[in-house]
Amino acid sequence: MDEKSVATAMQLRVRSNWEQLQSEVADAVARSSRPADSVTIVGVTKYVDLNATRCLLDAGCHDLAESRPQSLWSKAEQLADHSPRWHLIGHLQRNKAKRTIPCLHLMHSLDSLRLLEQLETDCAATGKKLDVLLEVNVTSDESKTGVRQDQLSELLDGVAKCSHIRLRGVMGMASLEGGSDQARRDFAAIRGLFESIRGQSANSESVDVLSMGMSGDFAEAILEGSTMIRVGSRLFDGLES
Ligand SMILES: *Cc1c(COP(=O)(O)O)cnc(C)c1O
Repeated sequence: MDEKSVATAMQLRVRSNWEQLQSEVADAVARSSRPADSVTIVGVTKYVDLNATRCLLDAGCHDLAESRPQSLWSKAEQLADHSPRWHLIGHLQRNKAKRTIPCLHLMHSLDSLRLLEQLETDCAATGKKLDVLLEVNVTSDESKTGVRQDQLSELLDGVAKCSHIRLRGVMGMASLEGGSDQARRDFAAIRGLFESIRGQSANSESVDVLSMGMSGDFAEAILEGSTMIRVGSRLFDGLES
């Protein structure tokens, strides 16, 4: 195939993956007896280059996520005329906060008091208000990131003191092992934390984002109350890279 037909094939493939995903999400939302618009799909573009990312935008996915700040900066700059809403889903080092903040629609990965304090300082310097999710860890996996339950109250107290940081909810992942049943249990535990945080919050109506569910488990997450899923590999299935 020449370059142009390769580009067209990519566009068609990503569009069909996007439409298929939307229809599966709609089924799961209907099964969870919630309104059709109650789940936002965030397209995770960390595996793909700028061209494939642009295909996803063209297909109609306007919420995009990266896990590495450097990739987010460069794609945000190059896709500025499409103005996607950018989400950061990976760990942020404090020395990268300042440059990342202006790009962000929502930060999913607040995981320490030190990072919180850095975000507050950098946001205060420009007057920006930043929406954040606390990344929680309910699994027994060694490698997983996120705040454990015994560190939660310290972080929540910290958030309450930061006038530029708006806590919108939590992000979490299911265990790597244990399949669909374990995923449902993990998601139920994450939702429990979300509800308890919302209950303790001074403005509980703005704590409204429960970010859970990925390519392999978004249906389980939606059934457990997810309002935002982060899907990567499913959307780029079948692309040669
Ligand atoms: C990579 C990643 C995703 C997307 O994973 P897929 O299984 O490819 O859909 C979602 N959330 C986080 C935090 C990730 O790092």
